[in-house]
This record gives sequence, C-alpha cells and structure tokens, in this order.
Amino acid sequence: MTTMPMTRPTWRTICALDEILPDTGVAALLGDTQVAIFRVGESDEVHALGNRDPFSGANVLARGLIGDLGGVLVVASPVYKQHFSLANGVCLEDAEVSVPVFPVRVFSGAVQLAQPVEYPADTQPRQRLVMIGNGMAGMRVIEELLRIAPERYDITVFGAEPHGNYNRILLSPVLAGEKTVAEIMLHTPEWYAEAGITLHLGEPVTAIDRRKRVVRSAAGREVSYDRLLIATGSRGNRLPIPGAELPGVIAFRDLQDVSLMHAAAEAGQSAVVIGGGLLGLEAAAGLRAQGMAVTVVHGLDVLMERQLDPYAAGLLRRSLEARGIQFVMNAMTVAILGDQHVTGLRFKDGREIPADLVVMAAGIKANIELAKAAGLQCAHGIVVDDTMQSFDPRVYAVGECAQHRNRVYGLVAPLWEQARVCATHLAGSGHLRYQGSLTATRLKVTGIELYSAGELSLVSGSEELCFRDPEVGVYKRLLLRDQRIVGVLLYGDARDANWYQELMAGRVDVSLFRDVLLFGPGHVANGVPTRQPPSSVPTP
Ligand SMILES: Cc1cc2nc3c(=O)[nH]c(=O)nc-3n(C[C@H](O)[C@H](O)[C@H](O)COP(=O)(O)OP(=O)(O)OC[C@H]3O[C@@H](n4cnc5c(N)ncnc54)[C@H](O)[C@@H]3O)c2cc1C
Repeated sequence: MTTMPMTRPTWRTICALDEILPDTGVAALLGDTQVAIFRVGESDEVHALGNRDPFSGANVLARGLIGDLGGVLVVASPVYKQHFSLANGVCLEDAEVSVPVFPVRVFSGAVQLAQPVEYPADTQPRQRLVMIGNGMAGMRVIEELLRIAPERYDITVFGAEPHGNYNRILLSPVLAGEKTVAEIMLHTPEWYAEAGITLHLGEPVTAIDRRKRVVRSAAGREVSYDRLLIATGSRGNRLPIPGAELPGVIAFRDLQDVSLMHAAAEAGQSAVVIGGGLLGLEAAAGLRAQGMAVTVVHGLDVLMERQLDPYAAGLLRRSLEARGIQFVMNAMTVAILGDQHVTGLRFKDGREIPADLVVMAAGIKANIELAKAAGLQCAHGIVVDDTMQSFDPRVYAVGECAQHRNRVYGLVAPLWEQARVCATHLAGSGHLRYQGSLTATRLKVTGIELYSAGELSLVSGSEELCFRDPEVGVYKRLLLRDQRIVGVLLYGDARDANWYQELMAGRVDVSLFRDVLLFGPGHVANGVPTRQPPSSVPTP
C-alpha cells in the first residue's frame, strides 16, 4: 500500500477576522479560483467553500445566508436556494453535487486560506477504519464520512448490542408505548451491507493492541486498523450498595432494559426508580404509562436539580403526582433487599419500601475501560483534542466516552458537533475544530413541556426576568448578564425555546426588547419590540 507524503498547506492572509461581519461571507481570490469565506456568529469559526454555485454557474455563494439546517451548518445559494454544508461542501438537496472545501484558519486575528491538498485518485490509498460502538455518535461520524470521503476507508463496525443503530433518545417513548422499536431504528443491518460496511453485532471489542494496530473481539476476531474510532458511549451508574446486582435491578440505557421493564409491567408489578433526574423521570412516566405502581426516590428535595429551580421542580412534581407517580424525597438508599430477586429498598433512616423492579437512574459512567487498558490517556472520558483525536494520533473518540476540554457530554447535540469535526479529520480534509457546546435539556414526557439551558443560579452580576401563571401552570425564567441571556428555564410552554437558545448562543444584546422578552419572538421584529406585553397576564 502506498502512503502519500503529508504536504503542509501554504497559508495566505486574506483579511482581518473583524472585517467579516458575523454570519456572513466574503469572496476572495486564491490563484484563479474564487473562494467564499464564511464567519459563524461572532466567533472565530470560519469556513471556506468554492464561490461558484454549481446549479446556476454564478460566483455567488459568498452572498448566501448561513444558518443551521437540522444540525448542519449551511450556506443557502442566493440563486436557487440549495443548501451546501459548510463542513464538507455537499449539497443537502442533492448529495451528488458539492462545492470544493478550502483549508481556512484564523491566525493572530487574520483569516488565512490555503489550496486544498489534492491526492491523485489512483495513488490515494484505501485505508482501514474500525469503529468500536455502534451508537448514535459513532454512526453520525460514519454517515458524514460516507458523504465526504466515500472511497477513503474500508469500514468495520463492532457493536456490543445485537441490534442495528437506533435512536437512544426515543427509548422513553418506546417504554411509554408511544413508539415501536422499528420506528426508532436509524440504520438496519441491511443499511450497513448496502453501504459496504462490515458489521459485527452482539460482539463487543475486548482489547485494542495499539502497537500492532489490531482490535480483538469477544468472539476472538482480530481486525487491523489504520484509524480507530472509539464511540463506546456510557452506561448507567450502579450504586455501590448491597443488592445492586440482584435480578430485577436494571438501568435505563438500552433496548434490553426497555424489554425487561415491559415484562415487569405485564406482570403488573411495582417499580421504584432511583434518581429524580431526566432519565429517572422519563423511566417513571413510561412505567406508569404501562400501568405499574411507580415510586421515584431522590436524594435531594428538588427534582432535576441541575436543570430546574425549586419552583419549576415543584410544578413538575405536582404534574407527575397527578399521573399517579409517588415520590420519596431526601432519601438515601443504602441497600436493595431480596434474596433471589429484588423485593424492596432500605433507606439510611431505616425505612423500607417494597419493589419488584428497581431502575437505577443515578447518573452515567463513560465506557472507557477498553481505552484505558490500551494505554490511552483517560480521565472521566477518553481525553481528546479539538479534532477529537486521542493521545494516539491514529485513534479518535466521540460521544459520551470522550472528554473534551474537561467536559464529558451526555446529550446528543454536542455529539453531532463532535461527529462533524471528527469526520472531516478522518476524511483528511480536517480544518474544523470542536470548541465545546452549549447544552439544553427537554423532558420527553407527553403532556409536560419543560426546557432548560445554560445557567440556573442567580449570581452577582446576573439578573432574572420571571413570569408565573400558576392557573395554567406556565413558568418562564430568563437569566441575563450584560443584557445577554445566559440561562433559560421554561415550564408549561416551551414553544419559544429555540428562539431563546439562538439569542443565548449568539450572545445577542436584548436591551432594546427586554420588556417583551418573556413573551416570545411574536413581540419582536428586527431587534425591536413590535407589541406591548399582554396586559391580561401577570407582568414580570
Ligand atoms: C432513555 C434515554 C433518553 C435520553 N434522552 C435524551 C434526550 O432527550 N436528549 C438528548 O440530547 N440525549 C438524550 N439521551 C442521551 C443520548 O441518548 C446519548 O447522549 C447518546 O446516545 C450517546 O451516544 P454515544 O454514541 O456516545 O453512545 P451510545 O448511543 O450509548 O452508543 C454506544 C454504543 O457502544 C456500544 N459499546 C460499548 N462498549 C463496546 C465495546 N467494547 N464494543 C462494542 N460496542 C460497545 C454500546 O453497547 C452502545 O451501543 C438519552 C439517553 C437515554 C438512555
């Protein structure tokens, strides 16, 4: 196999970063080629694509609007309005069409461009990519990679679970009986076969030999790699208490857990959920919807304390109680009771409650043992840099098993961003950097609208805007600092969540319309209020 020498790009300074207005593009000439350079928001994230719109033939992309389309940063052609991914230049409406992507960077405040490194097709080596973990983050990388560099790798995927890749977020509606397993499948085994990917399901990888560049599976299979992608996600945290390993004690993480919960519900049993966080409450609501008697045990007196303040947590608790879910608050579980099977729980104060099923939803733990055993640098997750590369340059990690700038994420939105960056680097056209994400939480319990993002506590220098209507159960709270939103909490009406998130992510100065901010985008146009706050509702 021939290996191409890496060529260093020659960078040319185009302009100062400040000369490009946020969320707009400029055109530049690189040799004979017109290049469109885009700046994302007010950040130093820049992208460069060929300026020629392939549909109209006109050099116009620099004048296109940029935005987020289903999690993909795009520019819309001003002529026929097709969207092109800023990461890989592929047209979203027609994946056969793309525009070239140019390496671009910000260096000492200046925007610099380089010519893309061209590999002659006949000398470009086909490499071997092995992915460990067939979950949401890893498969997003593979999808993106197949779009931008379909010929670059022979891909092998190992999955510990016996299923194709499914939308884990939707386990809650499956548990509640609102969706079927088939409805949450993202990639069936047939999809992998059609894409030319070798898939080993129900076959966890048990060792990585970085010297030989080989992974070994539980079935004894050995597969060599040129690049390795670790996407092993995480698992439910098992409390280190007596009885935690008893049959009938489960986590809420995968399809197998859901089928165990369905079986318990069919037997008409009672369930206790340990943990009043997002996962615990979704599990409790799902089990209750299946007809089980459900009690949630929480160590504090506020539910979802990392996302909610006591007032919103109280509204949520009352709404769940109205569905028949019981709560034991401020309770520390010290033992799970039972001999052959779980029969109940004991708390620190000596109280005991019965249970036929215990769901532990007390946090998650990254699956990093494999990476650690292979000598990769790990802390809470596998430590990666801004390109999602681990300390071994051949090994990348994405998703809940990865630790980036001291953070391990447990929600999908950041993982999509990581996947996009990782794919461009695996494709060899890597010029994107992952710089961390803003996270937001939505509870997926039908009939309860809840959204929380950013900061929650009022600290010196921040101020709050608040709206409460106990009659209809609506509560909105915004935290501001320097006239910019730094925290959003919406209960009972989360229709405007995306608007608040955009204002927060864009660090938009809201001073001109803060009087109507709580009433949503319908009261604002072009950054100024268009209507007075409604007079029939309590004023903030
Ligand atoms: C019930 C539930 C509800 C959720 N709701 C939301 C939500 O509303 N919003 C949100 O943003 N996020 C939500 N999440 C979180 C979201 O699902 C995760 O952040 C996301 O799935 C993580 O993706 P991942 O690829 O890192 O891990 P996973 O999707 O867990 O995939 C990792 C895969 O790797 C496999 N694996 C592990 N070790 C090995 C090995 N050695 N060999 C082979 N395979 C291995 C695992 O079995 C698993 O299939 C929810 C999660 C759950 C469980």
